[in-house]
Amino acid sequence: MNNAQSHLWFHRAEAVILGGVNSPSRAYKSVGGGTPIVMARGEGSKFYDVDGNTYIDYLAAYGPSILGHAHPHITKAIVRAAGDGILYGTPTTWEVEFAEQLRAGIPDLERLRFVNSGTEAVMTTLRVARAYTGRTRVIKFEGCYHGHSDAMLVAAGSGPSSMGIPDSAGVTRATAEEVITVPFNDLSSLEQALAKYGDDVAAVLVEPIVGNFGMVAPAEETYLKGVIDLAHEKGALCIFDEVITAFRFHYGSAAQIYDVHPDLYALGKIIGGGLPIGAYGGRQDIMEQVAPLGPAYQAGTMAGNPLSMRTGIACLEVLRQPGTYDAMAKKAAHLVQAIEASAKTQGVAITVNRIGGAFTVYFGEHKVTNYQEAVATDSAMFARFFHLLAANGILIAPSKYEAWFVSAVHSDEDIERTCAAVERVFQELGTIEQA
Ligand code: PMP
Repeated sequence: MNNAQSHLWFHRAEAVILGGVNSPSRAYKSVGGGTPIVMARGEGSKFYDVDGNTYIDYLAAYGPSILGHAHPHITKAIVRAAGDGILYGTPTTWEVEFAEQLRAGIPDLERLRFVNSGTEAVMTTLRVARAYTGRTRVIKFEGCYHGHSDAMLVAAGSGPSSMGIPDSAGVTRATAEEVITVPFNDLSSLEQALAKYGDDVAAVLVEPIVGNFGMVAPAEETYLKGVIDLAHEKGALCIFDEVITAFRFHYGSAAQIYDVHPDLYALGKIIGGGLPIGAYGGRQDIMEQVAPLGPAYQAGTMAGNPLSMRTGIACLEVLRQPGTYDAMAKKAAHLVQAIEASAKTQGVAITVNRIGGAFTVYFGEHKVTNYQEAVATDSAMFARFFHLLAANGILIAPSKYEAWFVSAVHSDEDIERTCAAVERVFQELGTIEQA
């Protein structure tokens, strides 16, 4: 595969854009380096790069592109919105309709607010929880990513439930110390942390189905109920970060899959149909902390902009079509079967976590139910897998901690072509392993 133009463009990018990328995960740092592929166009399930190569897209822009690229319904909504003006700075009918539709899908969203990113959505839920409870600390789960607000760039110290240390330069120790990190899928660690810090914990924040150390579901059906109950016992709120999961697995939230009701939700990605968006919401009495009704401030010039609202509405319209989610799950299941079969034939040890249309292929024999188990998988094998897939026209995220997303527009032919490419990739991986 010729990538000469990608090299040229990336070289130009590095001279003006810090690191050549506008988000660090787009760099190939965690897959042993290399030049990121520079894309020129997307259509349906495919990408076309600046060298004219074609890729089947399972990156899905890290989640939002559940309808693929240039979906006619989305494009029509954008064109119509553009004709009506894209930013008013006043209330609009679109934001009302969109909020009504989101609440119809997720009835726990008694009141909500639109913002412009998942980062903003999560950051604001924390402020609201602190305002409501009058407490300071937050408990999060190891390896979960919640955007790049200061408090969320905190890693665990040592021990099962430890006070955080900054994971990024520029985050103060004082901020990090307000965040306690515990392992996912382990209620007793959460219980311990709450026993120690409970009186000052404003919220327990969790990705109900984790998407940020690969796809990891609760190991037990009752785990999330346990998380919520433990938080409530100590007078803390429970916040679900559904930036990846909302409208991913079915028309609604991950909370609904487990029949639980967190106090607040953070949303983003899919709901914007590919345009910048975030939203947060939940219990009315808690949301009433927010200005203009309450003392907690949150605002945004671009918040609820008609372009994102109308595109979000269009996206939900397509997702409501019967059978959409079943089809994605079926295609993903077929693909995972082929991946597992190819790996087995070549004697390459993998473990796959799949939830509906999303899955992660880990290199290793052990199950992955928490961050440490994800860390323990083979990074070098993943890096080879990633590069070989790209060379065979299949694009996934350049990190072992991300997922493949099957979209509503992947055709059976796309899936078969991917299965064939995967077989070739594992043949090469098997050969490398034996060498
Ligand atoms: N929460 C989760 C669970 C996420 O996966 C992400 C982004 N990957 C965010 C929050 C932050 O969203 P954004 O990148 O839109 O700020």
